Amino acid sequence: MMRTLDQAGDFNGKRVLVRADFDVPVSADGTIQESYRITCQKENLQYLTERGAQVTLISHISAVPSFEPLLPQITELLGMAVDVRENLRAHPGEEANNAAFAQSLAEGFDLYINNAFAVCHRTHASVATLPTLLPSYAGLLVQQEVSALEAAVATDAAGKVVFMGGAKASTKVPVIKSLLPKAQNIAVGGVIANDILRERGVDVGTSKVDDDAHELLVGVDVHDDRLVVPDDFVRDGTALLDVGPQSAQRFATLAGKATMIIWNGPMGRFEDERYIGATRTLAEAIASSSAHSVIGGGDTVAALDSLGIGLDRFGFVSTGGGAMLTFLAGQRLPGLEALGYYDDHA
Ligand code: ADP
Ligand code: MG
Repeated sequence: MMRTLDQAGDFNGKRVLVRADFDVPVSADGTIQESYRITCQKENLQYLTERGAQVTLISHISAVPSFEPLLPQITELLGMAVDVRENLRAHPGEEANNAAFAQSLAEGFDLYINNAFAVCHRTHASVATLPTLLPSYAGLLVQQEVSALEAAVATDAAGKVVFMGGAKASTKVPVIKSLLPKAQNIAVGGVIANDILRERGVDVGTSKVDDDAHELLVGVDVHDDRLVVPDDFVRDGTALLDVGPQSAQRFATLAGKATMIIWNGPMGRFEDERYIGATRTLAEAIASSSAHSVIGGGDTVAALDSLGIGLDRFGFVSTGGGAMLTFLAGQRLPGLEALGYYDDHA
């Protein structure tokens, strides 16, 4: 059973170290482009400060070297001034899961809270080792993410439709393998569709494919009736760059009839507006569907942002891309493991 905040006892006067995920995109002028991951920290932070905890936040960020210039924006987004330690990944000990580095982070704190679901699949010092050095608990966001994903996996196959797009077969194929027996349909777009089409012997021309897809797809019946592949495309020459309008409409119909939807990955090369059409059709259909939807992925959220489709129109929006996929694939997440999540899960 995962250790949660309600088991942590009295927070009053305690020095609490919170692992957050503030890894947001930042534009050239220093503006935070998309702040969902930051605003998702608000509830947990309020919970702790209302109970008298002295909170210090730690996080990494990839877009810029330091949090310093972003602090006014972070304060504004969180609605309170916060103590944020410097970029974790500026220290090589973080990604190397160095024990001495983890010890240096723990120094001076009474409690550790992991509220960074998006890094829970990483064996990094602040995720995997730090929680073994202090009394440690899952924050509210981690708890919500885990519950939402558990429910999505556990729901009956009938009425459960998974939409999977984007790229990187190594992270997506394990989800297809794990969920195909537990879903009514898995509909694929993006590079993952190219991979599956190629496996079916379709000539995908100069389309982007994953080099390791053939190997990864061993054990997946690419002709399985539950696997829905597009049959029309938006092309540039012979390259398939978006799911075509008819297939996108088929996907939208599936979404309309579903009772549970899981979606990760844009249907095409959405950064170019010529290839965002199927992602728009699908996103609108999911947002309008009466199904409960669980969606996630950095590029998926970015695509919704550029389409102007509000995240509040979906049931649950995960802050995790890789972490969400790892969870959906039924693989262990070291960050959750350190919080006792698997202790009574065989
Ligand atoms: P997420 O971050 O939501 O998990 P991914 O990172 O897996 O999504 O995939 C997003 C990337 O996949 C985008 O950069 C997009 O351009 C690319 N992509 C999707 N479909 C295609 C395609 N048909 N051809 C080339 N690139 C594609
Ligand atoms: Mg991505």
